Amino acid sequence: MTDTLNQDIANRRAAILAELAAAHDPAPELIAVSKFQPEAAIEAILAAGQRVFGENRVQEAQQHWEARRATYPDLTLHLIGPLQTNKAADAVRLFDVIQTLDREKLADALAAAMEKEGRRPKLMIQVNTGEEAQKAGVSPTKVGHLLRYAREEAGLDVEGLMCIPPVDEPAGPHFALLKKIAKDYGLGALSMGMSGDYELAARYGATHVRVGTALFGDRNPA
Ligand SMILES: *Cc1c(COP(=O)(O)O)cnc(C)c1O
Repeated sequence: MTDTLNQDIANRRAAILAELAAAHDPAPELIAVSKFQPEAAIEAILAAGQRVFGENRVQEAQQHWEARRATYPDLTLHLIGPLQTNKAADAVRLFDVIQTLDREKLADALAAAMEKEGRRPKLMIQVNTGEEAQKAGVSPTKVGHLLRYAREEAGLDVEGLMCIPPVDEPAGPHFALLKKIAKDYGLGALSMGMSGDYELAARYGATHVRVGTALFGDRNPA
């Protein structure tokens, strides 16, 4: 049972890495999204050599990764879900990259947390490319303003942009828009593409793709 799971996950990972390598040179970094995954699945993909992971929620990420940091010192952990200011210190302590900066108040909270924790995770701004009311992220027209605030007022470095296209629209135009905004502001990192469209995102120049179910199989919401 465990052997089959290990083999399935290792095979899926190898296939996705090959697709990404064929889609774009250099290939984007594969972030394995381990939210809602059982321990056995996480162990299986670690055994296959995966070290870069994404999580949506600080508390679940702590459960999955805090203790494993000691065993796997080469882990890279990305926060890809919305962050509340009262969790900023916990996030700064655990994550290596926070992809979901989307407001000035959070920039201030992250700056204060970095000062306090003596740790500076890399940052990306989440852009709501579809301007969806219910979705986190800054609107495309406000990226410049937030970027300036983060750099000049909060003293933060921002490395790139992240987006989650609307589920009911083709993703390509959203990837193209994110890439254009990043180019306009000279930002190098582009986190875009999930299980259904990581290959497309790679062709649009994603530097990071965030893949959950295509790697692990279905999630088990707690
Ligand atoms: C859950 C999640 C993913 C992974 O989704 P899959 O479709 O399972 O690949 C990627 N990005 C974000 C922001 C997510 O919340």
